Amino acid sequence: MKIVVLVKYVPEPTATWKFAPDLTVDRAGVEGRLSELDEYAVEQAAQLAEKGVASEVVFLTVGPAKATEGLRKALAIGGNTAVHVVDDAIHGSCALGTSLVLAKALEKTGYDLILTGMASTDAELSIVPQMVADRLGINQGTFAGELSVDGSSVTIRRDTDVATERVTIALPAIVSVTDQTGEARYPAFKAIMGAKKKPITTMSLADLGLSADQVGWAAASTKVVDVAPTPARTAGTIITDDGTGGSQVADFLADRGFI
Ligand SMILES: Cc1cc2nc3c(=O)[nH]c(=O)nc-3n(C[C@H](O)[C@H](O)[C@H](O)COP(=O)(O)OP(=O)(O)OC[C@H]3O[C@@H](n4cnc5c(N)ncnc54)[C@H](O)[C@@H]3O)c2cc1C
Repeated sequence: MKIVVLVKYVPEPTATWKFAPDLTVDRAGVEGRLSELDEYAVEQAAQLAEKGVASEVVFLTVGPAKATEGLRKALAIGGNTAVHVVDDAIHGSCALGTSLVLAKALEKTGYDLILTGMASTDAELSIVPQMVADRLGINQGTFAGELSVDGSSVTIRRDTDVATERVTIALPAIVSVTDQTGEARYPAFKAIMGAKKKPITTMSLADLGLSADQVGWAAASTKVVDVAPTPARTAGTIITDDGTGGSQVADFLADRGFI
């Protein structure tokens, strides 16, 4: 069985992000990392390979040149090879554009099971896996907290607010996993060095039969129109209880519409 894991290289959440004049993230000018939520999918694929369920694990990313670092991190956790779709024309793509590029690349790699994170840690749309499923015309399972695979299907556990569901999905399928599946292992030095020797294939839009006008900022169906830093937290209000503390608290809450 061939598993392809979709992994995104994102700005480090704790770094200070900079934005380009077109309001896209300046990904070259900020420290990046493999999206933490994608590490859970990488770990699941590595475990399925160790159990002998997967004969091949491929990591696939669409991102700038630096995204290779994210693929190396994934390859240190497990897997055999990686594919990096990199092309200047992809810059600024919306989710529709990103899913188009991913779907075309998946047609090239082939797959039985596609694993993804539950969301990226930058844009957090949580929609790309569903769009890829639709483009490929395959089954999808979302927010798996646990998964097991047999020859022809994947069974997942989904925890919702009102119930826990067990869902069996016929392969080929795409499944997004949550942090409930278990943390990714911390790769040992030997695994990090070994990952440097694993092959990464680079593909361009032309390799995928796509043209620049189908993706990128100009073709995006949605555009960020404004970006502003989150206001710094203001100091709290300290109420000294001089006998009127209770009513001061009530007034404070009433002023803000809480009571
Ligand atoms: C500051 C900022 C500005 C943006 N501006 C715009 C804009 O103007 N217009 C617009 O439409 N969108 C914009 N985006 C969204 C951006 O295009 C998204 O990153 C992209 O659409 C993918 O959506 P997502 O990251 O929310 O993925 P999600 O749907 O949250 O991702 C779910 C899973 O899909 C997989 N995945 C997602 N992306 C990739 C990838 N590139 N490579 C491999 N796997 C992947 C991963 O497994 C991930 O866990 C902006 C994002 C940011 C942070």
